[in-house]
Amino acid sequence: MMVFLLLAALVPQQVLIATPRGQVSIPVMSERGAAAVAGVLLGQPLGLTMSLDGSAVRVTLGNRTFDFDLGSPFVRYEGAAYPLVGAPYVARDTVFLPLHWLTDHVPRLLASRYHWDPWLARLDEVAIAATPPAPSAAPHPRTGLRMAHTIVVDPGHGGIDPGNPGLHFPRGLTEKDITLGIGRLLRAELQRRGLSVVLTRATDTLIDLANRPLFCRADCDLFVSIHVNSMPVGRRQTQVNGVETYFVSDAKTEDQKRVAQMENDALRFESAPAVIAGGPLGFILNDLQLNEYLRESARLAELVQTKVAEIHPGEDRGVQQGPFLVLAAARRPAIIVETGFATNRNDGAFLASALGQHKIATAIADGIVAYLVEFERKLAIGTGGGQAR
Ligand SMILES: [Zn+2]
Repeated sequence: MMVFLLLAALVPQQVLIATPRGQVSIPVMSERGAAAVAGVLLGQPLGLTMSLDGSAVRVTLGNRTFDFDLGSPFVRYEGAAYPLVGAPYVARDTVFLPLHWLTDHVPRLLASRYHWDPWLARLDEVAIAATPPAPSAAPHPRTGLRMAHTIVVDPGHGGIDPGNPGLHFPRGLTEKDITLGIGRLLRAELQRRGLSVVLTRATDTLIDLANRPLFCRADCDLFVSIHVNSMPVGRRQTQVNGVETYFVSDAKTEDQKRVAQMENDALRFESAPAVIAGGPLGFILNDLQLNEYLRESARLAELVQTKVAEIHPGEDRGVQQGPFLVLAAARRPAIIVETGFATNRNDGAFLASALGQHKIATAIADGIVAYLVEFERKLAIGTGGGQAR
């Protein structure tokens, strides 16, 4: 029986697997089905073996064992379960496994042994002699975190898309300037806490909504997008104020629909909006609900919202949900922080000030660290390998 890997999105033409014993380039093959997934043949020289017993699929890679169940979007490894984008299945006497497992979980769980390069679609097996002693690293003195984490910070809008102009920003500032200012400060605050950071933009340029999540790949744990809110003309326009944090889901209220529509509207500045204007969002939402990202995103949103609300002069508007295109494709816990209202005088002054931006960046960083500490604790309990502190 052969082993295939499924690929739910971003189909490379081929996957290169390079090991000290040689390398092989594997073409991607199309698999017809509801989700139009594709498969690639996996074989030598990776040293992978597979057994099928009823619905239980056991895969060994080197001397490590991964357990799958047909039809279930999870993989178990050393006592912990990890979500997959898609479930393994059998067709034409062949087992299909989600490529997500090979490109995400293998390089993360066996980080000392394998490295996945998403741009080259290449999995490298590192020679054992070069293995760094990463798993038992000492906790970071400031955060207590033991693992390496990479955060993608996404300053909203940019270039020809100014975002919302607001009523109360001085000197012709617009949303794109505020988000970039906070984004850069957030990078510095996260780095100070020992975390790696990727900015989707570090200058005044426009990155298409569909391309922003592409920054969040194998070496990415969280996706955090920064925006500024605004109210439409009307009685409440200048009164409404405060901070709210979104994760992706269906919008439940008119306010949530307004904010999602406003942020998704950046599409009109893009060169080729037709690609996602038709909106595979329904499909992506269903897909997200298959895995744990939704629940994790809600928890991340809660922790960040709590921290930012503590330092914000405006109201605590709580955790919200909406169908944000930029969050839907991240395939990681992902949130949008609407850092305040440009249509409110107090919020506008706070957002435009260096002190306000610094306070917001620091609070978001604290919320992210609180989430990661919780995440590492859960992982340690799941694997039974944690030290209680
Ligand atoms: Zn925005």
